[in-house]
Amino acid sequence: MSRFWVKKVEGMKPYVPGEQPESRSVVKLNTNEHALEPSNSVMAAIARVQADQLRRYPDPLAIDLRKAIADSEGLSAAQVFVGNGSDEVLAHSWSAYLLGRTVQTLDTTYGFYPVWADLYDSQLIEVPLQRDFSVDIAALCDSPHPVVLANPNAPTGIALSVGEIESLVNSNCDRLVIIDEAYHGFGADTAAQLVDQHDNLIVSRSLSKSHALAGMRVGYALANTELIDGLNRIKDSFNSYPLDAIAQAAGAAAMRDHAWFEQSADLVIRSREVMRQGLIEQGFEVLPSSANFLFVRHAQISGKTIFEALRAQDVIVRRWDKPRIAEWLRVSVGTLEQTAHLLNAVSEALLEEP
Ligand SMILES: *Cc1c(COP(=O)(O)O)cnc(C)c1O
Repeated sequence: MSRFWVKKVEGMKPYVPGEQPESRSVVKLNTNEHALEPSNSVMAAIARVQADQLRRYPDPLAIDLRKAIADSEGLSAAQVFVGNGSDEVLAHSWSAYLLGRTVQTLDTTYGFYPVWADLYDSQLIEVPLQRDFSVDIAALCDSPHPVVLANPNAPTGIALSVGEIESLVNSNCDRLVIIDEAYHGFGADTAAQLVDQHDNLIVSRSLSKSHALAGMRVGYALANTELIDGLNRIKDSFNSYPLDAIAQAAGAAAMRDHAWFEQSADLVIRSREVMRQGLIEQGFEVLPSSANFLFVRHAQISGKTIFEALRAQDVIVRRWDKPRIAEWLRVSVGTLEQTAHLLNAVSEALLEEP
């Protein structure tokens, strides 16, 4: 704490991301990075970046990247906004559309939403998930306030259908709905095709999980052109060049490599199923997941005990000390080899318990 801190900084409770350990020997299943490395076409695009591109400022409009995104979604580039990770896209969306407003989200969801609510002086209504962790769509529809929803939800992995999202969007045309599709591509429906018909919807995406580019920081929003214009006003009042030349090249190559996207998603989904079966066999309850992670709870042994026993064996998963989910662990879906390692460590951990 410095005496120069303004009051706002004093009161902040920043988001705490999952641990990024130095050691490469740990089995890292705590931040939902993709199980595979990015496609060769992405690495080739990065290698093609010229020194002169680094000497110059990057394209402030990121035209080529936005075209690549628009083409893969059947939209126009004017319906696409890009940012330095979807966290930045979501923060700008909050600042353009939710600043000072009352906002609905869920009581168990992405931990950054309360941080932005605080940063942008919003009142947050945290609508409780139902007992089975499904989303109470009717409750969200009933209230006039804008909605921020992760779909699939995190950390549960449970997804709403596009029909359910559409009913929420249609329930009140004067209310903005922001759908955070950070886990797009692992089996959930997307609301992307709704943005053409609905001017009260923003769909946010990330290349961090779906395209194995967490280290590159590329995220985007899909929405009607007026909503995109508002995001551009915020961006150009903050940083005209949020995406560097390398990230723009890598992101565009990733968006154009549809074969990699489909094949790697298939592999993650198969690996998720192996992990699910293995954990069920060892006495875990596993929520249905449409993401690249599983949310699990053991019938007898506490979440904290298992978390610590895994940590002692260099297997890192994620756990939150929050009353509703304290017994639960979120485990990222890794390679089949990592899954075998995890299941081994789990059986060791369970053996130690009486
Ligand atoms: C990972 C994640 C993000 C942030 O993704 P980045 O593009 O890496 O900033 C946003 N929302 C949810 C729900 C996430 O899990």
